[in-house]
Amino acid sequence: MQIIKNAVALIRYTLKDDEGNVIDTSEELKDDEGNVISEGHDPLAYLHGGGAIIPGLESALEGKTAGESIEVRVEPADGYGEKREEMIQTVPRDMMPKDVELEVGMQLQGQTTEGHAQPFVIVGLTNTDVTLDGNHPLAGVALNFAVEVVEVRKASEEELSHGHVHGPGGHEH
Ligand code: ZN
Repeated sequence: MQIIKNAVALIRYTLKDDEGNVIDTSEELKDDEGNVISEGHDPLAYLHGGGAIIPGLESALEGKTAGESIEVRVEPADGYGEKREEMIQTVPRDMMPKDVELEVGMQLQGQTTEGHAQPFVIVGLTNTDVTLDGNHPLAGVALNFAVEVVEVRKASEEELSHGHVHGPGGHEH
């Protein structure tokens, strides 16, 4: 069957940035010397049409069948969004936890003004101030996917009512 709304698709994927660096993959990954740097995992199972994966990839997979492979470049707008300047803010250093040695590149768990948990990365540091970037790490990044469709099946009633896939590659509960 084809990948249509409410189908469950299992996919193998490799995601690279425009420089060819692997950002994420379901496959085993080796460095130039042949050392395994990422072990790979089961194909990803997702419920199509529900926004479980980024919009640019979901629309590229529409209508595909098991065994097909696609390569697609997803612009930030159809991926994790553009980097937003207002998500970068500078705060006084004494607002930060006292028991942590601050470093540029460090990730911290903060809160948005609405009270949601929000990861921040420290992008700047002076004696008095800390600059925090709350953008998604892949915001502003074009995403180059190579995807192989492993299996396509109908979702069960239970999966549809939960809004996600059960079993291998999905939720185990
Ligand atoms: Zn469930």
